[in-house]
Amino acid sequence: MTGRVDLLVVGAGAAGCVVAARAAEAGLDVVVLEAGGRRASRRACVLDVGPDSEVVARYPAELDGRTVVLPRGRTVGGSGAVNGGYCSATPPADLAGWGPDWPRRYAVGLARAAERLRPRLVPADPVARWVSAAFPGRGVDVAQARHGDRRVTAADAWDPAAAGARVLTGAPVRELRWAGGHAGGTCDGVVLADGREFAAREVVLCAGALGTAALLLRSGIGPATGHPVGRRTEEHPEVLLDLDPGVAPATTVRESAPDPGQAPPALLSRVVRLPVPVGGAVAEVEVRPYSVPLHRAIPGLAPQPHRIGIALMTPAGRGELRPDTDPDPGPDPAAGGGLRVVLDAHPDPADAAALAAATGIVCDRLGLAGEPVASTSQHLSGSARMGEVVDDAGRVLGVAGLRVADASVLPALPRRGPYYTVLAVAEDLAAHAIAGRA
Ligand SMILES: Cc1cc2nc3c(=O)[nH]c(=O)nc-3n(C[C@H](O)[C@H](O)[C@H](O)COP(=O)(O)OP(=O)(O)OC[C@H]3O[C@@H](n4cnc5c(N)ncnc54)[C@H](O)[C@@H]3O)c2cc1C
Repeated sequence: MTGRVDLLVVGAGAAGCVVAARAAEAGLDVVVLEAGGRRASRRACVLDVGPDSEVVARYPAELDGRTVVLPRGRTVGGSGAVNGGYCSATPPADLAGWGPDWPRRYAVGLARAAERLRPRLVPADPVARWVSAAFPGRGVDVAQARHGDRRVTAADAWDPAAAGARVLTGAPVRELRWAGGHAGGTCDGVVLADGREFAAREVVLCAGALGTAALLLRSGIGPATGHPVGRRTEEHPEVLLDLDPGVAPATTVRESAPDPGQAPPALLSRVVRLPVPVGGAVAEVEVRPYSVPLHRAIPGLAPQPHRIGIALMTPAGRGELRPDTDPDPGPDPAAGGGLRVVLDAHPDPADAAALAAATGIVCDRLGLAGEPVASTSQHLSGSARMGEVVDDAGRVLGVAGLRVADASVLPALPRRGPYYTVLAVAEDLAAHAIAGRA
């Protein structure tokens, strides 16, 4: 066992890098434990989540009666090192529902995140121009976390090691350690998969919405202790629609042999935001004109048609995470097992109606036909929600020495991709963790 440090951060992903770097800059003794060892590709246009990727954990999940795999970054930078990289801030109307103080807290966190990450707009690609032209006034350019062709991750923008934190990679955490030996009460450190123990005044979980839930449940924090971990997760359901090469501009969908010397464009440079009236309410849908077929951006993926996405950004349905029936996490507890993930455990018929209506509108406007394929945005959040599992400073309710600061805690999934918001919220929660140790 090592000596007791001020802060032990589990996971060097998006939130983990923010929390660790800010706390180290404030003079705290910080250790970061990251499951992954290898670095992801630095090329901004590459999403290294394919079948051969060595920088992701793979969580099997149920969706629409079939099994899909949810890849999550398992590397310094976390999912931000393998994601689509588009950065959108949460609209103020969504924040109002988080609590009266959140619009101000979020604005401060976002300003601090923007200063570090500096996301920037990229030129709209031909597919984005073609799709948005069909929806006048609805296209919105989205900023990307990149400098030129190089991806900028949280590990670049908030480098924990450069800030003075000790970063251990290849260090999957198996479980939390409890003073007194029983779950709950006071958390005083963690145990790694190889049995090594680390002691800390406070543990901050930043293992992602899936990794953090798995770790809490494995460590005895869950419904039995009054913490509804993973009970009503949120995700933006997405359907994928084939672009018909006979309809879309030839340059957008032609399967020309990829030129290894030429980087493909950003996967998303612009989205189309559509209000879709359904049953007396108005749903918000995001049309994603992906610039290339996904196998051009994801190494190792089998060739597939060029598709665009239609995502529901205001879903009423919820998912669920439960501990796997096999309580043994295996030799590597952070590889993606340990959880039963059901993305559509609590479906809402209004969601299906909204997606069907949106698909109809998109097909009409673009002259497309064909069956949409059910998919997911990879935006899962809310597995250890504020107000239910943690308080609004991220402290696990009724437990001392334990905080959560990643996508798990979002009180409600915003109507935008969550990446930028996770960084902004991590800035805010880092400030609380630092104040708590001062
Ligand atoms: C393929 C993909 C594409 C996406 N595209 C976009 C996008 O374009 N725009 C957008 O807004 N959002 C996007 N997202 C979502 C966004 O990336 C996430 O919401 C965000 O990264 C979540 O940050 P986090 O800190 O909660 O978790 P992560 O960034 O996933 O970090 C978690 C870290 O914890 C580590 N970890 C897990 N378990 C353990 C353990 N037991 N011990 C030690 N370490 C552990 C992991 O290895 C990882 O490094 C995408 C996500 C994915 C997967």
